[in-house]
Amino acid sequence: MTIVNQRSVCACGASGTHVHGVLLARFFCHCTICQSLYKRPWADVMVFRPGAITVSDPNRLAFRRYRSLPALNRGVCSACGSPVVALTPGPSASGLGFMPAGTFENPGELPPPTHHIFYDRRVADVDDALPKIHGYWRSELAVGSLVVRGLLAARKLS
Ligand SMILES: [Zn+2]
Ligand SMILES: [Zn+2]
Repeated sequence: MTIVNQRSVCACGASGTHVHGVLLARFFCHCTICQSLYKRPWADVMVFRPGAITVSDPNRLAFRRYRSLPALNRGVCSACGSPVVALTPGPSASGLGFMPAGTFENPGELPPPTHHIFYDRRVADVDDALPKIHGYWRSELAVGSLVVRGLLAARKLS
């Protein structure tokens, strides 16, 4: 289990966060929303509780809700359009916050991703030893079980 205590900053430097909390999961997401939002074949995503994420200046973020699943509120920098944070809708006590791993100031200190999800939607093959999860529900389930494991580990700690 890893406790992250780092700042993140968007591509242009105008928007950022401070994250201080238990890392629940880190994976590569190949879904089509991530492809278009990140303008890359996949996204490197880290999951935290929303309470662990403090947005430096919320006024700088533009929130977009994509109609197709997963229905996250995706906050992008209003200056450069790059993703800063994505939050599950509803009360934050039961929610999750998703962060692009590439925005963290010290990426070398972060544990590596463990899975590829939505691999059936990939536009590029990846040649590594990580599990590759195909399909919407299998991908959601994989993230869900990673998160539950992370929450249980965090609970044991406190
Ligand atoms: Zn920016
Ligand atoms: Zn995705």
